[in-house]
Formats: sequence, structure tokens, C-alpha cells
Amino acid sequence: MITKKTIIIGGGISGLVSAYSAIQSGSTVILYEKSNQLGGLIGTKYSENGLVEQAANGFLNSSSIEKLTKDLNLKLLKPESSSKKRRFFRNNKLHSLPISIFALLRGIFGFCFINSEPNLDENMQEWSQRIFGKDFTEFIIEPAIGGIYSTELELMYVPSVFSKFKFYNGKSLLRNLLFHFKNKKKEIKPNLRGLVSFQNGMQELIKGLHTYILNNSKSKIHLNSKISNLNHFLESNKNNEIRICTSLFETIELIKEWELAKEIFPKYDICSFSYQTICTITQFGMNTIFPYKAFGILFPRNQNLFVKGVLANHCIFKGRVKNLPYSETWIYSGDWLNDATETSVKEIFVKERNFLLSKLNKLRNNDPNRKIFLHDIHIKIWKNAFPIYNKNLYNFNNFLDEIEFICEQKGNPIRFYGNYRNGIGIRSLIENAMISR
Ligand SMILES: Cc1cc2nc3c(=O)[nH]c(=O)nc-3n(C[C@H](O)[C@H](O)[C@H](O)COP(=O)(O)OP(=O)(O)OC[C@H]3O[C@@H](n4cnc5c(N)ncnc54)[C@H](O)[C@@H]3O)c2cc1C
Repeated sequence: MITKKTIIIGGGISGLVSAYSAIQSGSTVILYEKSNQLGGLIGTKYSENGLVEQAANGFLNSSSIEKLTKDLNLKLLKPESSSKKRRFFRNNKLHSLPISIFALLRGIFGFCFINSEPNLDENMQEWSQRIFGKDFTEFIIEPAIGGIYSTELELMYVPSVFSKFKFYNGKSLLRNLLFHFKNKKKEIKPNLRGLVSFQNGMQELIKGLHTYILNNSKSKIHLNSKISNLNHFLESNKNNEIRICTSLFETIELIKEWELAKEIFPKYDICSFSYQTICTITQFGMNTIFPYKAFGILFPRNQNLFVKGVLANHCIFKGRVKNLPYSETWIYSGDWLNDATETSVKEIFVKERNFLLSKLNKLRNNDPNRKIFLHDIHIKIWKNAFPIYNKNLYNFNNFLDEIEFICEQKGNPIRFYGNYRNGIGIRSLIENAMISR
């Protein structure tokens, strides 16, 4: 019997799970990763004071993820129950509901009764304001969506963000949701619901997948192996299935000189793509901005702060701090970061943290604990980490679907996986990579 071969470009979570699923279906895998390590955006550092996640610190669980982790012999870690509270910062205070009762009623009304089908040229902010009203959008939807996509709503396109969700004309969001869940295939519920991670951080998942691939004696991983010329690469891998598992930025680099892509590309009128740069700052210390146990704080725009969100690492997963009692991760995003350096971001962080410390946790300038917080800081700037989920990206995904279809017909299957296809969250990346499309 001839064993199928699957060639994978990219060793982030999408590439590694793709490799796992190809091996599960009886294929041999050859994976090429351009850097000297696996994981892509995911990576955990172990500082003397605790664990530092470079990007994702957890992900939503599902029954297929539970199967994957079982196969990899990994134990999922659930968050502390006391970390449930999420707060919004507005007018120098923390709120569980940062809007008036009238704005809330307006939001509920829109959710139940207003036609939720997006208009052709409506951006996400216009869509949200039409349905939920202005305040609900500004103080709840924007920080919540911004917390996931780190992007301003006016730059986003609803069908691109909710690509798996069908909006029916004339139906409110509530009716669309009810219809969606009624027709959704019954999924087996996972044992652990909601957010999960691993005792030693997200790196455990990367290590587990790495070991799984290496244990398949015929499969191979090539590090420091950048694939640049897709025309040559496809020519030398004619009868194998190819899975491209790189970021949008890197995918464009890969396919822009590809003959087949050039043929179809103009039809979609894709002129430019926009990306989001994201920075995380994890800091350990003797004090915290959090006045009580919580998951994190979201920051609406117009609060005169750059920060988008702060996570209370010492509350979320057990065992994340040693020596010092507190750890926070601050998340920044926006165009201003494109020219920023670690030093310039750190200056902003120190200023904003001092401000929030005085507003939220009432530490005074002469409090001795106030000075110790700069003890252990880890800054990571991810340039072009995410695509902006706009109309161009929506068209580009249609274009990739068409390419996948043509290649399938020709008997040379090529598939695209990654955080520009169906959402940026690890759960959807894992689930997409596990389904043989
Ligand atoms: C700050 C931050 C926080 C986040 N937090 C969360 C969270 O809490 N929960 C959550 O679910 N998600 C989170 N995410 C999102 C999630 O981490 C990413 O969407 C996901 O890790 C992307 O994985 P990927 O494999 O698709 O792409 P990547 O991680 O970008 O991997 C692509 C890989 O391909 C390699 N590559 C690229 N080009 C080539 C080439 N030509 N040849 C060979 N190899 C190549 C790259 O080196 C890289 O290793 C976060 C992201 C960021 C940046």
C-alpha cells in the first residue's frame, strides 16, 4: 500500500494540528518551518517569578480539543472559579455594566427586533450602532470585540468576522441565533467548558504536538526551512497534498508569484491588506491594579489610554506566579506600534500603570510597594500578527476557496489554514485544521 504524503508549510498551531490530523488519517507528514522553533505566535517563557505567555494564554475548549489533548497525553487546566469577573473601565472607575439602563434596553431591543443582516457597505461599527445603539456599541461591543481582534470596529466587516454564521434577511440577531443553534449539528459537550490552558502554559501543547509528529517514524520536521518559491515547490511535490499554514502576511508573500493565483487574483479586486501589530507586556510585582480577584479589565476608546486590556494572571490559572504575588499582562495594539520600540512602549505602560494603580487600587505615591513593580517586565511586539477582518479579507478568502476547489479538481489538493481564514482564536484554528476540507 502506498502511504499518502502531506506537505505542510508553517509550524504554528495551525500547521502542527494539520500534521496531527494528517497522521491520524494515515498520511506521512513533511513539515517546513522557517524559524528555528515550532509554535509560531504561541510560546511560553519561564521567568524566575513565573510563567510568561508570549501571545495566547488560553483558549476555548471543545470535545474535539479534548480528544486531541487526550491523544497527546496532555492534561487541560481550568481557570480558578474566582477569576470570572470581567470589568470595563470608564470615567476612572471599573464597571460590570458601563452603560445606562436606557442604553441597555436599547441594546436588548435591537438584539430582539432589528434586522441583523449586514448591509453591503456597512462596517462593523455602523452595523453594531444600527442594532445595539451608540453607547452599547462604544462601551460594550467595541472593547469586547477589540479584546479579541484588537481592531477598531469601523475597520471591520461583519461577514468577515462572523464568516461561519448565516444572517437571514429580515431576522433579528436573536432569531438568527435561535435558528443557527436549532440547525447546528449536535456537538458532544466537553467535560471542561470555557477557557482552558496547561499547567506549564501553552508551550505544552506545542511540545505535545511536536512529540506526536516525531513519534510517527516516517514523518519529518525541517526547521530553518523557509519555502519561498511556490512554483518550484509545487512542481517538486506534484502528487502530494499541500497545506499552507502561515500568517496572512506570509501567505501573500508565498502566493504572489504563483501562476495559478495570478490568473484568478484580479477577479477579486484585492488591492491591499491591512494588518494589526500587537504588543503584550507581562509584569510581576508586589502590587496590582486589580482591587479584587478578576479575569481582566477592558478599556473602551476615548478613555485617554492606549491600553486595550489587562489580564490578572495571578487570578486566572493556578501556579502562574512564584516569589512575587502578582502578575499582569497588558495588551496594546494599533498603528502607533508599527514604529514603537520596547523602550517607548514601556514608557507608556509605566505611565498608564501608575495612573491606574492610583485610580483603582488607591496606592499612594509614597507607598513602598508602588516602587517594586518594575521588577520583572517582559515585552513582546508582534508586527503584522493579525489581519484586519475587513472586506478585502472576506474577498481574499473567497479567492482561496476558489483556488482550493480548482486544485482539488486537478488532483493536486492545496489548502490554506490560519488566523485569516475563520477567526483568530485557537479553538477555531484547531478545529479547522482537524477537519479535512
Ligand atoms: C498577543 C496575542 C494574544 C493572543 N491571545 C489569544 C488567546 O488568549 N486565545 C486564543 O485563542 N488566541 C489568541 N491569540 C491568537 C492565536 O495565538 C493565533 O491566532 C495563533 O497562534 C496563530 O497560529 P497559526 O499557526 O495560524 O499562525 P502562526 O502562529 O503565525 O504560525 C505560522 C508559522 O509559519 C511559519 N512560516 C511562515 N512563513 C513560512 C514559510 N514561507 N516557510 C516556512 N514556514 C513559514 C512561521 O515562522 C510560523 O511559525 C493571540 C495572538 C496574539 C498575537
